[in-house]
Amino acid sequence: MVMKRSHRIALKPTPEQESLFGQHAGYARFAYNWALGEFKAGLDVGEWLGERTLRPRWNRVKSMIAPWGLELSQNATKYAIIDLGQAAEGWGEYRRKVNAGRRPVRRVGFPRFKRRKHEQGFRADNGPDTVRVDDKVVILPKIGRVDMVEHLRFAGSIREVTVNRTDGTWFACFCVEDGQKPPPVKDGPTIGVDVGLGTMATCSDGNKVENPKALTTSLKRLRKVDKAIARSRNVHGKSNHSNRRERLYAKRRRLHARIVNVRNANHHKATTAIAKSAGRVVVETLNVAGMIRNRRLARAIADAGMSGFLTKLEYKCGWYGAEYVKADRWFASSKLCAHCGWKNDDLTLSDREWWCGGCGTLNDRDLNAAQNLEQWPGLSFPVPGRGDRVSPAMLAVVGEASSGSAPEIWAPANLEYQISSDSE
Ligand SMILES: [Zn+2]
Repeated sequence: MVMKRSHRIALKPTPEQESLFGQHAGYARFAYNWALGEFKAGLDVGEWLGERTLRPRWNRVKSMIAPWGLELSQNATKYAIIDLGQAAEGWGEYRRKVNAGRRPVRRVGFPRFKRRKHEQGFRADNGPDTVRVDDKVVILPKIGRVDMVEHLRFAGSIREVTVNRTDGTWFACFCVEDGQKPPPVKDGPTIGVDVGLGTMATCSDGNKVENPKALTTSLKRLRKVDKAIARSRNVHGKSNHSNRRERLYAKRRRLHARIVNVRNANHHKATTAIAKSAGRVVVETLNVAGMIRNRRLARAIADAGMSGFLTKLEYKCGWYGAEYVKADRWFASSKLCAHCGWKNDDLTLSDREWWCGGCGTLNDRDLNAAQNLEQWPGLSFPVPGRGDRVSPAMLAVVGEASSGSAPEIWAPANLEYQISSDSE
């Protein structure tokens, strides 16, 4: 396995380059929408048109329907059609599951037409190693040398480059393969990490990562803007273009961008610290998509960006040589007492602390859950010096909680790297 890393860098294009970016984004969007139209027409006559059918078809018609794009990079349209094909596949798979009576983890909608207002972006490379970086300059096919605000953080082979626009600024997103193998797992403590709503993450060593609550604090402003947009949409039964509404959209984009930035900075700092200090990290397997269906919790969960946190934690464990383990999703990490294994069946979501009925300890909900994860019975080898804390009673409770799945799932070989296919 080679490691892929990505780095998103703001660009400083000249007016001519900015115009070329816009043309490429427009060309890609045109091809995407054309392919979606073809795909829909195919469905109407009972034909499934995949990207392998659509791409040669596009190449035959493009000079007729989009002659203005022939001077531009043709890869932008190629990847736009591949994107559409993947979106259609995702939707088709979701429909098949629903038709088979299964309940998929997340809902996948039918691909939608792209609008200039909403998406501006394109694939800028011509394949692996076709984009070069020279100090703070990136050399893009058909566009040339574009200034960047910072250096590309990683050395190696540049596999993909996507250029897109957020809030008026153009960015290049690099995917780099450094050709190095991930470092071997280092010696270090096993750290259980409980992700939650109140505190972003609680570690079994007592460290806590507070939630920036970026969305909650900006929520009032966001809601105000949302209401103003809704009001401006329908004036006397007409929905005309208005500069005022465009300004509101821009304001909303800025608010969202700020929220994302604050949250990401917080996540990066915390996950780096955990992955650097641990030899092994144990997390619970969250059903984030399922939780978001619960509307009362939805905003808080979306705010905390729990799945984003876990994604970063997982790849950083790879970078810094820590083993990343997902505990079984039926493991009752919150309800078990980490000291004696007693199970609190009456625990509710609002209980932040609880008294153990077995040993009388006052347990902090999050810390207790993190400590249970640290001692998760499914680990391939016990935590040195702490193995004795896993009582037979606890194992029995765990086995009971997982009833419904086959008992052999508890064989250590299966548990060593439990990657659930339905998790984020
Ligand atoms: Zn206890």
